[in-house]
This record gives sequence, structure tokens and C-alpha cells, in this order.
Amino acid sequence: MKLNTTDPKIYELIQAELKRRREGLEMIPSENHTSLAVLEALGSVLTDKYAEGYPGKRYYGGNQYIDQIEELAIARAKEAFGVPYANVQPYSGSPANIAVYLATCNIGDKVMGQNLPDGGHLTHGWKANLSAKLYNSVPYHVKKDGYIDLEEVQKLAQENRPKLIWCGATAYVREFPFEEMSKIADEVGAYFACDIAHIAGLVIAGAHKSPVNYAHIVTTTTHKTLRGPRGGLIMVTKKGLEKDPELGDKIDKAVFPGGLQGGPHENQIAAIAVALGEALRPEFKEYGKQIVKNARELAGSLTERGVKIVSNGTDNHMIVIDLTPDGPGRGVFLQDALDEAGITVNKNTIPQDPSSPFYPSGVRLGTPAITTRGMKEEEMRTIGDWISQIVSEIKKYRLPELKEEKADYIKNFKDEIRQNKLIGEIKQKVLELCKKFPVYEE
Ligand SMILES: *Cc1c(COP(=O)(O)O)cnc(C)c1O
Repeated sequence: MKLNTTDPKIYELIQAELKRRREGLEMIPSENHTSLAVLEALGSVLTDKYAEGYPGKRYYGGNQYIDQIEELAIARAKEAFGVPYANVQPYSGSPANIAVYLATCNIGDKVMGQNLPDGGHLTHGWKANLSAKLYNSVPYHVKKDGYIDLEEVQKLAQENRPKLIWCGATAYVREFPFEEMSKIADEVGAYFACDIAHIAGLVIAGAHKSPVNYAHIVTTTTHKTLRGPRGGLIMVTKKGLEKDPELGDKIDKAVFPGGLQGGPHENQIAAIAVALGEALRPEFKEYGKQIVKNARELAGSLTERGVKIVSNGTDNHMIVIDLTPDGPGRGVFLQDALDEAGITVNKNTIPQDPSSPFYPSGVRLGTPAITTRGMKEEEMRTIGDWISQIVSEIKKYRLPELKEEKADYIKNFKDEIRQNKLIGEIKQKVLELCKKFPVYEE
């Protein structure tokens, strides 16, 4: 029995989401459109199987094919990134990172990561996250120009002598200083972990420097620029195994039975193997390079039209628009206005944000998904023009200072932009553009 007959409600909602993805520009930089092959593996019968343990060492029978699938995923991850060890089981990026703490630190040890409002990830020691509750987190920051403050990183590392230092972020537009930070980590004897969740696909494509020669551990998600299913990978480099020959075993034990998860999701692991197989093909190199070309073109198109962006440009797939010239905390307005036009982005903090993470002053957008659709520089100029027109259109809206007035003001703003003529016209043009670049087609 198929879903459309057994559960038409869920079926229709899935169809509605498919239509939304087809008819809008997906510009959240952490999202992508996977291939139908990835979706097929993800939706396969493999989801039924228990396979606690690792290939050849399972706690359940019947794993002869599962073992081969997981071994293929591991072999492809090693090949794609050039590492001697990979664990493909983490359910997602966050549990992958928590496993790194379990493998390298004792509870209460000092750890360092990029501060969340400066673009860092929750799991790199943000106060609301387990990583700061179980460990003693010392955050580092970015400078006003958007670059990591390496002087501060060095000073904090010398003062605190952390056990683990993270490099990697969720909103960072410049190339990561893997080499510089690895020197700092080595000086104080810390493990150096690079979290390439956002840029993994660019690293494979050679469109961003690889951390593999500098880090002991590399973690990533599989669903961002890597264009696979949601998931996580943990890899140990040659340098990591030289520091601690047991590091791979420690990571395996942290993932299972360390406490993060029970049975691995083998349907997801098969889909990761499929995505890595795609990433190993020559076309993927072109794809990764085009993502960056597109982001640069879009950044140029926005700045030419007077839109302020963090760091005045980008080295990767991401751009952060800085809306403070018209007041703090305005990210929500641009996010909602673009949403109304069929362009999906997310509000985000900017370096030294004068507002808060819930009402940030910027908007983060990226090119991975629209590049998957085949869009190139010409389309980026068009999209840059639309976005800048919408930035101007909402210039007059200011976030109220009083907390109790904010929600009503935003509701009223939404009602107004729903009637806005310019935004309605752009929505129509977005739809026409999307029709020229179909996704999820046979
Ligand atoms: C997205 C992201 C993660 C976590 O990913 P989830 O799969 O959402 O748990 C971890 N680190 C960084 C830097 C990220 O951008």
C-alpha cells in the first residue's frame, strides 16, 4: 500500500513541501537538494534493521549486507577526504561533535570554540548546550571585519591551556585559518578538531582548503554542501593517529556504546554512501567551484546595489547581510519579506551584533541549493537585484525597543508585506526562474 492511499494527509503535506521547494529559491546556506538516488536509499528497507556495533562486530544477526553497505560508506568517506579513519554512524552533526568531547575530554575540562553569536555552532561550547554544561567552555570571537581574531585565540589558549580547540562555524564567510589555529593548538598540546559541516562539499571539490593536514579530528554533517541525507561523520587524520593511536577506537566507543545512540540508521548510512559516491565524481568538483563563484557574484551584485554585507565579501558559499545601517535587530524583516517572495533565507547574528540571537541584525544566505539547480553567474545577478530591491522596500521598518511591542509590530509588518506590490511581482519572477531550473526530476 502506498502513502497516498493509507495516509493522504501526510502524503499531501509532503507534496506541498515538494512544490514549495520546486517553486522557491532555497537560499538557506545549510540546505541543499539531494538526488533522487539519495532519497531512494534513504527511503529503503534498510531502516528496519538493527545493527548495533560496527561491521564484523555486531550485536545482531542478519547483518551481512548491512556490513557491506557501512564498509562502503566508510571507504568512500576516507577516499573523499583523504583520511585513515572514519565513523559514519552519527545521527547528525551535533551528536558527532558531542562524541568528539567524549573521546577526548574528561567532564569539566577546558575547551575552546567560536562564540555562537559570532557564527560558531551550539556544540562548540555555547552556554545553552551540553558542551558548555559538561565542559568548561572558553569562547573566542571574530573581529568587526568578520575574520577570526587569531590574537585572541592564541591568548586564550595560552591562558587556559584547553584540552580541545574547535575550528569551524555555522555563519562564517571567510576561509578558515586551519593552519594558524593548528599551530596554536599544538603549542598548548590541545586536540584540534575542525568542524567542516558547512564546507565539506567545497573541501572535496577543492574549493576550500582542506583541514586534513592540520586537524587531529574532522567532523561534518552530510546534508549541507556535501548534498547527502541528514547525518554526521567523524574522521581522524594521520596527524590525529600520531598524537593518539587509539583515537579512532575512542571515537567509535564514544558513538556507540558511549551513550549518544543505539542502533545506527543504516538507511541513512546507505544514502551517505550514495552521496559520497556522487561527490567522488568529477562533476562534483565543478559543482563545488560553481557554488563559490556564484556566492562571489551574488555578493558583488548586492554590494554594488548598496547592500552592506559582513566582511565585504565571501570566500565560500555564504553571505551575511548586515542590516544595521537601518537599525538593529532587523534580520526578521528581511527573512519574512524574502519568504513572501519565495526566497528562503534565515535571520542571523552579525559580528558584534548590537541586538540578540533571537532578534539578530543580519540575514544569512547561500548558493549550494540554487547551484544544484544549475544556476550560474547570470542568475546570481538577477537574484542580487531582487534581494536588494526588497532590502530597500523594507528600509522604513524598525524593531521596537520594548519587548512587549515586538511581536505585534512583526505581525503587522507581515500583513503589510503580504499586500506589497513589488514583493508580489518579484515572487512571480522567482517562480518563472524556478521553472527554468527544475529539481527532483527523474
Ligand atoms: C549544521 C552544523 C552542525 C550540526 O548539524 P546538525 O546536523 O543540525 O546537528 C554542527 N556544526 C556546524 C558548524 C554546523 O554548521
